[in-house]
Amino acid sequence: MDDHLYFNEQHLALREMVQAFARDEVAPIAGRHDEDQTFPWETVKGMADLGLLGVPWPEELGGAGFDTLAYTIAIHELAKVCASHSITISAHTTLGTSPIVHFGSQEQRERFVPLLATGKVIGGFGLTEPGAGSDAGGTRTVAVRKGDHYVLNGTKRFITHGGVGEVFLVTAVTDPTLGTKGISSFILTKETCDLEAARKVGIGHSDELPVMKGFRAGKKEDKLGWRASDTRELIFEDVEVPVENRLGAEGQGFVNFMQTLDAGRVGVAALSLGLAEGALGEALKYSIERKQFGQSIAHFQGVSFQLADMATEVEAGKHLVYHAAWLAQHGKPYRKEASMAKLFCSELAMRATIKAVQIHGGYGYTKDYPVERMMRDAKVCEIGEGTSEIQRIVISRQMLRDLGA
Ligand SMILES: Cc1cc2nc3c(=O)[nH]c(=O)nc-3n(C[C@H](O)[C@H](O)[C@H](O)COP(=O)(O)OP(=O)(O)OC[C@H]3O[C@@H](n4cnc5c(N)ncnc54)[C@H](O)[C@@H]3O)c2cc1C
Repeated sequence: MDDHLYFNEQHLALREMVQAFARDEVAPIAGRHDEDQTFPWETVKGMADLGLLGVPWPEELGGAGFDTLAYTIAIHELAKVCASHSITISAHTTLGTSPIVHFGSQEQRERFVPLLATGKVIGGFGLTEPGAGSDAGGTRTVAVRKGDHYVLNGTKRFITHGGVGEVFLVTAVTDPTLGTKGISSFILTKETCDLEAARKVGIGHSDELPVMKGFRAGKKEDKLGWRASDTRELIFEDVEVPVENRLGAEGQGFVNFMQTLDAGRVGVAALSLGLAEGALGEALKYSIERKQFGQSIAHFQGVSFQLADMATEVEAGKHLVYHAAWLAQHGKPYRKEASMAKLFCSELAMRATIKAVQIHGGYGYTKDYPVERMMRDAKVCEIGEGTSEIQRIVISRQMLRDLGA
């Protein structure tokens, strides 16, 4: 892709900075955190220091003052080396912060965004429930108004940063007679489960935030991939949430979260693209180094054709991802394009990482090379923030809508 199609000098400088950070700081520790299934606090602190936890937000709210394209570049570049670091940026920024930026009151923005954008605290987004996954409108968590507060009861499942995070945006039913129009969203706060580690590195915890009684993280998921990303249940037992913590008007929660997911899908698409491109880079390098039958395996047509297919698809993925990001940045409709980018790139990440393992032969099946981690990390891209089936539904519905059908 011609860089200047989408990027200015600032974007290219940011890309170089993230590439250097990913190569020098993330690559050496990615395998260990995958193995131990631990949150990489030290490098998350490094990302916070570089402004990567608030790339698109204005400087007056503690952000780096860049734009959506810059943010997309950061996700894409980090994922070439480690998908867990990449999803940390994506889940924290789009899911855990953007609803406050876009739908919050001025007071909420000033109170929470600077803490999130600087990485002082980690944020998350609680939509999925045990009985409400693809059918997110089936939310069972309830919020009952009692004077100046709501009382929340329910459980969320598979929440990124559920343990390490302190600020969460969650949906709950405020009027069960109205279907999805009876779903509202709220800002909830708790203490990180990793207080000692957070205090040690100096990010991830703020004494300024109230610990809401009855709100806690539940079971930590033991996952196939994204193992350095923290995924847990969130449990609400008679949690008293002040009315001023409601995000937007009553009944707006579902619509707002669906809009948030459009942006999130561009993020997961960029992550998936990074995984595919990272795997291509590893496969290319290995295929030149590895000799069989007296020559580099890259010279066998059976291998070189696979590399050519991967490179072609990565190039197509770049256009889908950066086109969707460009539309979002310019305030144009992009729901269909976000879903197309996510659908194509997540399935590409799976295909490309499987090919990369194949090109590494037996070595690709071991932890000596990063491609086996990449292959495991790729699978969830077809599931999180809407499965591939749901993306196909979104795309086809939008096509029919465009035709007025
Ligand atoms: C690592 C990880 C991190 C996550 N992080 C978050 C997070 O931070 N916040 C959050 O809210 N959620 C998060 N999720 C949840 C994720 O968004 C859901 O897992 C996903 O939306 C699918 O829901 P489900 O798992 O309940 O599957 P289900 O909805 O039960 O789907 C099961 C299968 O049925 C298919 N299916 C369902 N409905 C249809 C249909 N109408 N047509 C065709 N096929 C259909 C699906 O495509 C899938 O193949 C995360 C999940 C994972 C694994």
